[in-house]
Order: sequence, then C-alpha cells, then structure tokens
Amino acid sequence: MKNFIFQTVPVLHFGQGCLAELPGQIAALRAFRPMIVTDRGIVDAGLIAPVQKTLSEAGLDVEIFDAVIADPPESIVRDAIAAAKAAAVDIVIGLGGGSSLDTAKVVAALAVDGAQPLTDIYGVGALARKGLPTILIPTTAGTGSEVTAISILTTGETTKAGIVSPYLFADVALLDPALTVGLPAAVTAATGIDAMVHAIEAFTGRHAKNPVSDMLAIEALKLLTAHIETACSDGRNMQAREAMLRGSMLAGQAFANSPVGAIHALAYPLGGIYHIPHGLSNALVMPFVMQFNLEAAAPLYAQLADALDIPRGSENSSEARAQQLIDYLEGLAVKVKAPRKLREIGIKQEATPELAQAAMLQTRLLVNNPRELTLADAQRIYDAAW
Ligand SMILES: [Zn+2]
Repeated sequence: MKNFIFQTVPVLHFGQGCLAELPGQIAALRAFRPMIVTDRGIVDAGLIAPVQKTLSEAGLDVEIFDAVIADPPESIVRDAIAAAKAAAVDIVIGLGGGSSLDTAKVVAALAVDGAQPLTDIYGVGALARKGLPTILIPTTAGTGSEVTAISILTTGETTKAGIVSPYLFADVALLDPALTVGLPAAVTAATGIDAMVHAIEAFTGRHAKNPVSDMLAIEALKLLTAHIETACSDGRNMQAREAMLRGSMLAGQAFANSPVGAIHALAYPLGGIYHIPHGLSNALVMPFVMQFNLEAAAPLYAQLADALDIPRGSENSSEARAQQLIDYLEGLAVKVKAPRKLREIGIKQEATPELAQAAMLQTRLLVNNPRELTLADAQRIYDAAW
C-alpha cells in the first residue's frame, strides 16, 4: 500500500437540532464576538433568525455580514474582512451554501493583523498561518465546503481560482439537516449531483486517493444516489434530507484529501463566465467527462457500480460495468429533472471554444483526472455537452 495522508475538521456535530450546540462550541473556542458570514437569500429564507436567536440567548453580541453573492468576487471578501476587523470579531461563522462558507474561510484567515494580501494566497499551500477560529454551518447538501480546506473565489471578471491550505479547515462543522428542508427541488438536485461528483472524482483521483477517501466516497455515493429522488420530490422528508447532508459531508471529506478532476475543471468556466450554479455546471458536464475518462477509469467506475448494486447487464467487462454506472447516474439526473444540455440553459454553441480554453487553466484539478485531457478533448466534451 502507498503511504497516505488524511485530514479533516477536528469537530463535527451532525443531526437535527444540533444548531443548539453553537454557543457551546463558540465558548469552547474561547471566542466572544462572532461574525456570521452569509448571503441575502439565507436571511430572506428565515434561516439566520434561529442562529441569531441561539447566539443572543447565550448573551453573544453578533455581527452580521450578509453581502456574499454566488461565485464570490474578491471585492466581497475584502469588504467582509474590513467589516470583521472594524467590529473586532474573534470568530467567523459561515452560514449558507458553498459561496458563503468559502468566503467565511478566507475572511477568518485574513481578518487578523499582519495577514497576507488576498492575492498572495491562491494555489496550494500559500496561506502562511491560521487566522480566526471558524465554525461552518451548511444550508445546502452539496459543496461539502464545511469539511474542506478549499475556498473558490472569482478573480478578475470570470476566472475561478482556488485557495487550498490546511489552515482553511474549520474548527467546527455543524450540520443540521433541518436547515436544508426549504431548499427548492432544482437546487436539491444540482447540489446533490455536485456531491456525487465529489465522491466519484475523489475515488478516481490520480494522486491522493487512499483507503480512507475511498471508503468515504463509496458511502457518500450510496447515500446520495439512494435519497436524491425523495429529497427532490418530498423536500420535507427529514430522513432523505439527513442522508443527503451526510452524503455530501462524507464526499467533502473524501475530496478534501483526494481532489476533484476534469468534471470540476470543465464546470468552473460555466460558473465563472455564465454564472451557472456550481452544482448544475457539474451535472451538465458529468456524463460527458465520465465517458471520456472511461478508457482510463473503467475498473474504478466498475467498482462504484458494484458498490451501488446497479443491475448487471449480459456483458461482464469492466468497460461494460463502467458504462452502466454512467448510464445509471444519467438516469438519476433525468429523474430529478436536472437540465441535461448546455443549450437548454441558454449557452450558445459558439461559446464552446472559450469554455475549453478556460477549462485548461484549471491545472490544479486536471492533474487529478484519471485520463490526461487536452484542449481538443475539452472542446469535444463541451460540444457533446452542448
Ligand atoms: Zn463541486
């Protein structure tokens, strides 16, 4: 066996009502002045009110920054850092989907005296030290951001760039499935498929996959595939919501250690250039990248097909089994009514060369892909996905 390293957040609270643990966790981190980093959608959906109530009942004076937007640009991160410093907060609480949690992580890292400039911390391992303590509370079941050491920001106009550092791991992740019951079906579908992609790409990662990330990826994919239809058709089904949140967290732990590959590399330009939500971007390119990867990843895809107990066909090769996985996932995506083609969401065919060029910039991710991918490959995949 190859040597490996596995890291995750030190404290996880999971389960209905675990939001009540928040004041105790803040006290355990010896903090007194929290700032919640979130977006207007969370405020308008009434999700911040219970958090605020829990904190004020514990006698904590809480600062709110609710200006996060999807595909968070650097300007928003800088505003949040300035707000945190002005209010002299000593702990950052991220509440929301991936954009809010990713922003919270960077704000916590840089809202301290003598911090590096934001532009210096992109890439892997460039962040020099830990900043303020962080507690992350997801309200979607998809990004797994609460358990990853990665933040994705939008730099310039359209490029998505990642900051990867063990110092971005939260001190506590608090996962309360009750916070996800209000998610609309389309968001549940897209974020759920994103989480499946995290599990699949972690399992097929070329460099860092290991026995722990494999185990997490398989368990995540089982939970997500078994419950996504119910979570979409019956959003108040707490068992399905709990399974989706658990699956997304496990997949997050997997890909925090065995990073994602070409599905994400080809999804990011759709977010960066067209602001297609991250989960939907992944859902749209997933089958076509998997089809491209099949010649290199067939044995691993076949293992996943076996783990999911997908019914066998007459042919027994690993290629045939891998194809069954791709077809099964595509069937699920259709059942949960995720858009299946780029043209259905208003992308013009002429856009594919620009998308392919932009995807090739995601070198941090492409190196993990089980099959090497060229610009011409990326172009062919987008054309197939169009
Ligand atoms: Zn993702």
